[in-house]
Amino acid sequence: MNVPVKDRIKVIQADITKIEADAIVNAANSSLLGGGGVDGAIHRAGGPEILEECRKIAARQGGCQIGEAVITTAGKLPARYVIHTVGPIWYGGTQDEPEKLANCYRNSLKLAQENNCQTVAFSNISTGVYGYPKPEAAHIALSETVAFLQKNPLPEEVTFVCFDEENLRLYQELTQASGTPK
Ligand code: ADP
Repeated sequence: MNVPVKDRIKVIQADITKIEADAIVNAANSSLLGGGGVDGAIHRAGGPEILEECRKIAARQGGCQIGEAVITTAGKLPARYVIHTVGPIWYGGTQDEPEKLANCYRNSLKLAQENNCQTVAFSNISTGVYGYPKPEAAHIALSETVAFLQKNPLPEEVTFVCFDEENLRLYQELTQASGTPK
């Protein structure tokens, strides 16, 4: 029953639009109205339903703040939901970027839990055009996730979906180094 936290974390290299998780986590921008990178890929593959829901949320609450997360349908994707979180742009670490990125992971996991998601797949938030250094971003992603899973039975499993080789290598190193990263 009690699966160790390290066995509830997976690392793969894939296109997140192909993943059959209860929720996939998108690196959105604060308008929620679509962008490039993984966001563009999710909207292209998932169809217009996702953007429609994003528009409604944006109209209601004026987009999404950095570090916050919202949830929508996954449209035509194999996932059930898309959680959209807004990562910080990297300004050299002068704008509380680590805390903001940690909030992305914490708030996405909380939203997944509130929506009864057993499996969640994260993209590597902020590590594309937002320019967050990949080693630091991977460390934050893993330590926040470990801390959350230690306290919560849901989600049962979290997968980090790496798109590029560098992120894959970093996540593999960090998850294999000492069992659970601190
Ligand atoms: P941000 O603006 O938060 O930096 P990006 O979309 O530019 O968001 O990049 C976030 C991460 O998503 C990057 O590591 C990028 O390599 C990755 N990525 C891009 N396309 C995909 C995809 N189809 N599936 C999974 N990850 C992707």
